[in-house]
Amino acid sequence: MLAISGPQQYESVLAAVHEAVPPQHDPFLDLVPEHGIKLTPRHYAYLKISEGCNNRCTFCIIPKLRGDLVSRPLAEVMREAERLVAAGVKELLVISQDTSAYGVDIKYAESLWRDRERSARFFDLAEALGELGAWVRLHYVYPYPHVDRVMDLMASGKVLPYLDIPFQHASPTVLKRMKRPASQEKTLARVQTWRAAVSDLTLRSTFIVGFPGETEAEFTELLDFLKEAELDRVGCFKFEPVAGAPANALADPVPDEVKAERYDRFMKTQQAISARRLKRKVGTRQQVIIDSVGPAGAIGRTKGDAPEIDGRVHVASRRPLRVGEITSVKIEAADAYDLRGTAVGF
Ligand code: SF4
Repeated sequence: MLAISGPQQYESVLAAVHEAVPPQHDPFLDLVPEHGIKLTPRHYAYLKISEGCNNRCTFCIIPKLRGDLVSRPLAEVMREAERLVAAGVKELLVISQDTSAYGVDIKYAESLWRDRERSARFFDLAEALGELGAWVRLHYVYPYPHVDRVMDLMASGKVLPYLDIPFQHASPTVLKRMKRPASQEKTLARVQTWRAAVSDLTLRSTFIVGFPGETEAEFTELLDFLKEAELDRVGCFKFEPVAGAPANALADPVPDEVKAERYDRFMKTQQAISARRLKRKVGTRQQVIIDSVGPAGAIGRTKGDAPEIDGRVHVASRRPLRVGEITSVKIEAADAYDLRGTAVGF
C-alpha cells in the first residue's frame, strides 16, 4: 500500500504512485508538457487547495452540487505549486470555496514537503507557498481568528498583501439569515488590526444587496460599514434566487426597483472610496506584473490587483517589456479603477 486517500482525491492516488515510481517526461511521447496544462497565461496559475464546502449559506447551492469540504494534502498542493513555478509561473492564485477552512476535514493531517512534516493548515500552507519565491495571492478567505497569523507572512513579503474576503453583507441580522461563516467576528475591528499590521494591505470583497427581508436600516448598516472599512476593491450583486437555494423561501423578498436603487447607492459610495484609495498610490513606486504588451504600451497589475477581477496598470516604458516580467513602475495617475505609470529602475 502506498497511501490512503479520500473521496475525489484522484490526484493523491496519482501523486502516491508517482512518488514511488517517478514518471519520466518524454517530450516525444507525452502530450502534456512537464508542468501540466493551465488555462491561464503562462505567468499566473490558479491553485485549487480543496473542493466542496462545509458551510450552508442560504443563497448558495455549491455544497449540494459539490459536497462537503475535501482538502488536498499539503504536500500534494506544494508539489503542484513547485511544478508551476518551475515552469515559469510568477503568481499563484490560491482558490477554494473556503480557503481559511483548509484542512479541517482531514484533521490538519501532516505530510512531508522539503524534509519537513507540515500540517494541512491555512497558515502552514501559506507559509510553504511563500518559500517558492512567486507571488502568492489568497482568495476566498473568511475572517476567522486564525487568519490574523497570515498578516506576519504578508508584512514580511512572503505572501502578497492582499486578501479576498467575500463578506456579502455587514448587517448581523442579514448575515444570520444568510448563514454566513464567521458572521459573529468583529469584522471592522479585524480590518483595522490587519491594516495596522500590513500598511499596504489590499482588501477585496463582494456583497449582495436586496437579500430577502433586507430593510432600509440593514442596508444603511452595510453602507456605514463600507465607509468605515474603506475596502479597496468591491464587487456588488443584486440578490437573485438560485434554483434549490433555501433563501428563496425566506419572507419579504425585496422588490426589483428597491434592489436597483440600493445597488446604485452602494456602487456610488464604493466608487468614491476606491478612487480615494487608488489616488494614494499616485507618486509611489509599485511592483507591477505585466499581463499584456501592445502597440499602446503594456498592461499589468500591482500586488493589490488580482487578474480578471481587479484594476489594471497602464504602463509606458522606454524599453520593451515582456509578458510575465515584474517591473518597478512609478504611478502617475489614477481613476476609480485603474492606474497609469512609467516603468523605472533599469
Ligand atoms: S457561499 Fe457559503 S456555502 Fe456557498 S461555497 Fe461559499 S461559503 Fe460555501
